[in-house]
Amino acid sequence: MNQRGVTIWFTGLSGAGKTTISKAVAEKLRSQGYRLEVLDGDIVRQNLTKGLGFSKADRDENIRRIGFVSHLLTRNGVIVLVSAISPYHETRLEVKQKIGDFVEVYVNAPLKVCEERDVKGLYKRVRRGEITNFTGIDDPYEAPVNPTVECRTDLETVEESVMKVLDRLEELGYCSDKLKVGVG
Ligand code: ADP
Repeated sequence: MNQRGVTIWFTGLSGAGKTTISKAVAEKLRSQGYRLEVLDGDIVRQNLTKGLGFSKADRDENIRRIGFVSHLLTRNGVIVLVSAISPYHETRLEVKQKIGDFVEVYVNAPLKVCEERDVKGLYKRVRRGEITNFTGIDDPYEAPVNPTVECRTDLETVEESVMKVLDRLEELGYCSDKLKVGVG
């Protein structure tokens, strides 16, 4: 298939829904034969960026390395789905400018909702003082000013959020409208 490469970059707090939405979008694309790669922040930190911590410098390095790989894949016609907190505006802008074909998805849910979900039990550990420098609690999260797509995951179902992303990809010419059949 003659597809255009693009990096779809999901940013947001821990528990906001980045992994959930990106996986569902990936499944949908894969079922239609698109070539894609998923770079999930948690998995990337176990290999590509193993050893990096959560200081600003290490977080930036983490994002730059993910951005580097995403760029290589994107320019070879692959659809890349990145889910990483990526808390800093400047660093996201840097990778966006480098990659060019870049769709920024702001996965937005209030901290309170993310904490209630506590998908990985991390917020509980933060409140017990076992984890520090946690994004949204004692480390910054700079929300995107003008994201390509915003998913309000406290107000939308997963299917609605997925549809928003697919709609935008279609509008921008990265995928066909066939994808939207049967979401949900
Ligand atoms: P993150 O990858 O951002 O840390 P996860 O995807 O692991 O977050 O967890 C998000 C949680 O929120 C999941 O339990 C998911 O089912 C739930 N959720 C509820 N509504 C949505 C939505 N619209 N989009 C994504 N996730 C949602």
